Amino acid sequence: MVEMAEATTEQVVVAIVTEAIGGGGNWGGSGGQWCVMGSSTAYQVAKRGQRTLLLEQFDFLHQRGSSHGESRTIRTTYPEDYYTGMVIESSKLWEQAQSEVGYEVYFKTSQLDMGCSDNKSLRAVIATCCQNSVPHRILNHQQVHQEFSGKIQLPENWVGLVTEDGGVIKPTKAVSMFQILALKYGAVLRDNMEVIDVKKDDLRGGVFVCTRNGEKFWGKKCVVTVGAWMKKLVKTVTGLVLPIQPLEIYVCYWKIKEGHEGEFTMGGGFPTFASYGQPYIYGTPSFEFPGLIKIPVHGGHPCDPDKRTWSHDPTVIDSLKQWIKERFGEVVDSTMPAITQSCMYSMTPDEDFVIDFLGGQFGKDVVVAGGFSGHGFKMAPVVGRILADLVLSGEAKGVELKHFRLARFDGNPKGNVKDFEEQVNFSANS
Ligand SMILES: Cc1cc2nc3c(=O)[nH]c(=O)nc-3n(C[C@H](O)[C@H](O)[C@H](O)COP(=O)(O)OP(=O)(O)OC[C@H]3O[C@@H](n4cnc5c(N)ncnc54)[C@H](O)[C@@H]3O)c2cc1C
Repeated sequence: MVEMAEATTEQVVVAIVTEAIGGGGNWGGSGGQWCVMGSSTAYQVAKRGQRTLLLEQFDFLHQRGSSHGESRTIRTTYPEDYYTGMVIESSKLWEQAQSEVGYEVYFKTSQLDMGCSDNKSLRAVIATCCQNSVPHRILNHQQVHQEFSGKIQLPENWVGLVTEDGGVIKPTKAVSMFQILALKYGAVLRDNMEVIDVKKDDLRGGVFVCTRNGEKFWGKKCVVTVGAWMKKLVKTVTGLVLPIQPLEIYVCYWKIKEGHEGEFTMGGGFPTFASYGQPYIYGTPSFEFPGLIKIPVHGGHPCDPDKRTWSHDPTVIDSLKQWIKERFGEVVDSTMPAITQSCMYSMTPDEDFVIDFLGGQFGKDVVVAGGFSGHGFKMAPVVGRILADLVLSGEAKGVELKHFRLARFDGNPKGNVKDFEEQVNFSANS
């Protein structure tokens, strides 16, 4: 048992924290640093003039969580209509943050969603575009061929959905951006601070956050955004078992054949894309590694975030090879990926986020945000805004959070009911 000395000059929290009360130097905050959600929230909270502390268990910009790498897609095309407005708000907040920092992390292009015309998820995406007045075009296989200058081949019974609000976000640079901005607004950021407990302060109110190296921080409020470690940490703190399953994921980059490299770039009119069906495959234009294109499967195998295998699943690679051969013909080399990178998803059973007060003895003092299920990066700015609202005022304006509440799992392990196929592919191989 580590003897803990309470911090007297600062305040802290677990994934993020906020609003220290005066005197004695306490903090609010905790959580992941490399963590995009924690960093975005720290920026939002600090910008509102609150004393903010952000804690990370590893080094800043480590590669053992979910937010590292070279690219993340952004798109408004979702089968669930409650994400569209969040993505639209996020796009504006991405632009605002990058104009504050003075460099770009968000690069726009079009988005192509494709799949069999009777695919329920794709049909739901089209319905959502209509409901939310997202400008879109539905193309048959020949029109897709024409639109993208013969580079993308679809079967006759497939359709393409084109929207103009796709794009690529650079994750490492974006997390760093939020941290720089949080620092600019006075937040304190500390790495190599593993949070091992969060306790209610019965005397003053607020919470203590305890770290493995024996430090103890007090904060009026606390936000916990610890990614793939959510289930472990929340279980330690409350005994509650959140239905958030870490998955080990592999990102694959494939070589574009010589002479065709420019055709797959954003400048060459190439979109970000998603292919509905089993497996769900997505990709970004050639960007971070010239001559290579990123095409992974949206899925992976269950893992313990502290005991990863770091191994490939050959069946996933095989399905990608087949898909690339059929969609991009002879122009992209489908023999083997040129680069693979490992990452983690935090999956909920319904692929919806968890954003809620922890409740119980903590009431509204601790907010948890996790289970971003492989599609949360694009929404980091709006999630940060929502979390800042929740800890500072107890409610988030302009957004319906019922789909993200913990109570959806009460007596209902699958969570939100959906009338379309699951998108993330779970593989048993490890
Ligand atoms: C390969 C891959 C591709 C993806 N593609 C897309 C995409 O195209 N578009 C999209 O929108 N989303 C995408 N996502 C999803 C998106 O990246 C994640 O939803 C998002 O990064 C999750 O961020 P997070 O802050 O919740 O988790 P993390 O970034 O993992 O942050 C959690 C942090 O908490 C820290 N931590 C954990 N426990 C503790 C503790 N006890 N004390 C202190 N710190 C702790 C961790 O070290 C970590 O830094 C992708 C994810 C992956 C892995």
